[in-house]
Amino acid sequence: MGNIEDSEVELRLGRFKGAAKQAGVKLTHQRLEVFRELASSLDHPDAETLLHGVQARLPTVSLDTVYRTLWMLNNLGLICTLGPRRDSVRFDANVAPHHHYVCVACGLVRDFESADFNAVPMPSRVEGFGSVVASHVEIRGICDECAAQQP
Ligand SMILES: [Zn+2]
Ligand SMILES: [Zn+2]
Repeated sequence: MGNIEDSEVELRLGRFKGAAKQAGVKLTHQRLEVFRELASSLDHPDAETLLHGVQARLPTVSLDTVYRTLWMLNNLGLICTLGPRRDSVRFDANVAPHHHYVCVACGLVRDFESADFNAVPMPSRVEGFGSVVASHVEIRGICDECAAQQP
């Protein structure tokens, strides 16, 4: 389980408070705690993982509240999602351009930056599908921890 530096978490919380105010979204304690849980994790967690983390501090929070908060944050552009399906979707509080390393054995996800990957030219085939909002590279592999557990 990885954690983000406190200063970055505070920065993200500040961004949330500003955006919520601008959008007229009420900043409830539960919403703040859901965002704090995601903003302090390196793991790109799914909603159930976030629920367990938040429940440690707020036992009354429900999965429904977590999902509603996450989609609200997504609509505000404060978080983004990974994975194609809504029921298995994972959430990311890093909205700066970045790429992902994904372990195919345990599902670990880590961010990395790469000027080279940012500059990958868009294939003309993609332009035939529609406009491009963003792109990111996903590298798949076996993480060091999983590799160490294999015989
Ligand atoms: Zn792994
Ligand atoms: Zn990410």
